[in-house]
Amino acid sequence: MANDVLGELRAGAEDFLLLIISSPSGAGKTTLCNRLRKEFGELAFSVSHTTRKPRPNEQDGREYHFVDVSEFRKLAADNAFAEWAEVHGNLYGTSLREIETARRNNATGILFDIDFQGARQIRAKVPEAVAVFVLPPSLEELERRLRGRATDDEPTVQKRLAKAQKEIENYALFDYLVVNDDLDRAYDRLRSVVLAESARRIRKAMLAESLLRHGRVSLP
Ligand code: ADP
Ligand code: 5GP
Repeated sequence: MANDVLGELRAGAEDFLLLIISSPSGAGKTTLCNRLRKEFGELAFSVSHTTRKPRPNEQDGREYHFVDVSEFRKLAADNAFAEWAEVHGNLYGTSLREIETARRNNATGILFDIDFQGARQIRAKVPEAVAVFVLPPSLEELERRLRGRATDDEPTVQKRLAKAQKEIENYALFDYLVVNDDLDRAYDRLRSVVLAESARRIRKAMLAESLLRHGRVSLP
């Protein structure tokens, strides 16, 4: 299955947007992704598998598919993942099924909230994927946000802060950098990226073709 889905994606990436959003933990990418999901309903959201325990406000199948380590390892061995990685001591992976389902449901693309290791793996398989990295305005503010979220215990916050430096060092993997200082301004920058990428000629060629053939642009 793996090769088919990714092969099709390579062939069809021009009209199906693969949008990766990454950031150091706490920089605000989930908050920004939630806004994108509200505004761009035609973009599917990839629900990852994880071995992390659910936070109090999280629901299985909505934020993540929560699985245990042996289930995760079995999926990985069965090539069920487009990418997977260990992040902060837990396993996270994007199943190929999420991408297949999005395409079957006629989504115009799919949004991945994944870390830089996942971004690197997806880009290696489908170079047309678009990758955005969200930066905090400062490391102090990152720490404030991680603590303010109040969903992680102190050792977890420390682990995530220690990892931030290494994550930021990988910024060159990404096409776009968005600083999340003021949330509304950051969201404006991010939605501009989505609008511009969606308007690319290669993703819109069918509109010009439709105008040529039928005398009008047929919008989906
Ligand atoms: P991530 O998904 O990158 O780990 P979250 O979206 O969970 O980060 O955000 C971490 C915390 O920071 C949350 O409590 C969120 O409400 C807050 N936050 C996000 N963006 C901003 C911002 N621009 N200004 C202040 N707080 C923010
Ligand atoms: P959290 O535990 O805070 O939800 O996520 C921790 C980190 O794991 C975040 O950087 C998030 O982007 C990343 N992550 C979530 N799902 C995946 C995935 O499927 N693959 C990879 N590589 N990283 C993921």
